[in-house]
Amino acid sequence: LGRKVVITGVPGVGKTTVINRALALIEEEGLSYGSVNFGTFMFEVALEEGLVRDRDEMRKLAQADQRRLQKTAAQRIGEIEQNIIIDTHCTVKTPKGYLSGLPEWVLRELQPDIVVLVETDADQILSRRLSDETRTRDMEGYGGILTHQQFNRSMAAAYGMLTGCTVSIVTNPDFLVEKAAAHLAEILR
Ligand code: AMP
Ligand code: MG
Repeated sequence: LGRKVVITGVPGVGKTTVINRALALIEEEGLSYGSVNFGTFMFEVALEEGLVRDRDEMRKLAQADQRRLQKTAAQRIGEIEQNIIIDTHCTVKTPKGYLSGLPEWVLRELQPDIVVLVETDADQILSRRLSDETRTRDMEGYGGILTHQQFNRSMAAAYGMLTGCTVSIVTNPDFLVEKAAAHLAEILR
């Protein structure tokens, strides 16, 4: 079985960019990782069922639906047997509070070796969200983003306790994405 690396971070922190750059770096060395987006696995099912039209509507679904979609996504991703990066969220901010992205039954399917938190200052995330027109981001202030990132650290600690995975923090500040990618590449080696 391959290595399973879960990459998390609040919306707009630049997870996908850091992942793609890190993958390019390690591929030059002949190392190979597959990468999947957890939300996309959920979205395919949600779309089929006619529950949503775009991926940003999923966090507003009933809790029971979100859990069911999570469970299916986790089962499908858990079957993958190569080294894999899973692009997902430590917690999802729903209208009814923070929803764990990796509740115990998801962790059991995925069995992650490493959970990575991609972080940067809340003010940088705020301006990145404002300039991204491809997504429907919730209106959120500096304080909300700060609290979300703090909460994600607590949740990541719980994931470490439950699974014995390591937890790693990768910072992705403005203009330093290459440094963040090099750090992630080091984790993947
Ligand atoms: P993303 O493209 O990574 O922002 O993910 C899109 C959406 O997928 C998120 O806003 C969540 O609604 C959902 N999602 C992704 N990962 C998870 C997860 N582990 N648990 C619950 N929902 C998730
Ligand atoms: Mg993304």
